[in-house]
Amino acid sequence: MRKLHLAAEVFAKLGFHRILAAYSGMFSKKVPVLTYHRVGLPVADYPFDKGLYSATIEEFTTQMNYIKANYSPLTMTQMIAYINGEFTLPKNPILITFDDGFEDNYRLAFPILKARGIPATFFVTTDFIGSNETLWYERLAYFFNRVEVARVKIDALSLDLPIRGKRSRTKAYLKTVERLKLVKNKERLAILVGIYEEYGDPYVYISQDELELSKSMSWEQLKEMLANGMDIGAHSISHPILSMLDESEIEHEIVGCKKLIELQLGCNIDSIAYPVGQHESYSPEVIEQTVNAGYKIGFSFVDGVGCPSKYSIERLHVDIHAPFSLFKSKIAFPRLFCE
Ligand SMILES: [Zn+2]
Repeated sequence: MRKLHLAAEVFAKLGFHRILAAYSGMFSKKVPVLTYHRVGLPVADYPFDKGLYSATIEEFTTQMNYIKANYSPLTMTQMIAYINGEFTLPKNPILITFDDGFEDNYRLAFPILKARGIPATFFVTTDFIGSNETLWYERLAYFFNRVEVARVKIDALSLDLPIRGKRSRTKAYLKTVERLKLVKNKERLAILVGIYEEYGDPYVYISQDELELSKSMSWEQLKEMLANGMDIGAHSISHPILSMLDESEIEHEIVGCKKLIELQLGCNIDSIAYPVGQHESYSPEVIEQTVNAGYKIGFSFVDGVGCPSKYSIERLHVDIHAPFSLFKSKIAFPRLFCE
């Protein structure tokens, strides 16, 4: 990672971004797609998944000022028309996306986007929207950050995790999530219940203040964003790993999510971002059902600008506290700066 930072600094000093911005059409017709999750800064002793923060407000403002000055942000309708050969790209196109549906997207990111006339697409998880509950992995992060035991043993995942300081809690959470991504959905749910039963579930006693830290957007907020030039897309009902579901469960998550958002917001939902979004988290069956459900475009969370199909478009990750030169380099030279 440090090597990438250094290279990005060198590129920035040499002014490569400006050169590429001037001639970008000659190099590539791929549209870079940025992915954010949360905007802002986790509070001290933050009890959920810190890794979901993509940029502070200051970083996001700087990034959007740069996008406004140098790029042409597309709406999702334009992106879909482009991949279907029905839209001529403006100079330096870019697409901005957000995953999951956290409330800071509305409170912090939306005003910055709106003030600059930059459209973005928000992929939302419907079980989370307008609810008091948090996403399953956020709840697991809360468990590991708050549980008061010396170690957590999860036989089904062959894990024996010491719980000492903050670092070991984060490590235990990340290891467990990584393993849970590889098991069938029903098994994942059963393992989670098992962990909470065996060790006690601190989430049961969560305070309202802490709950607010992992809050979702409401349907009303999404309506307001839609009315102000933002796009809404699907991110499943419950954020499972779609490839680990059986056929009827995949259909439920993919069709049900689209229908519910359309019903709540009164608009067509044409785009989906697969939860987790690595190659192994959305199978050919998932893509087939996505097509059958009537989606027109699908996004992975693979770091890049590849587009194996219009239902498998890669996106560029934005990482909090990464140097601004790296942000610029990733967009301009994604093949060099993606991990
Ligand atoms: Zn997600």
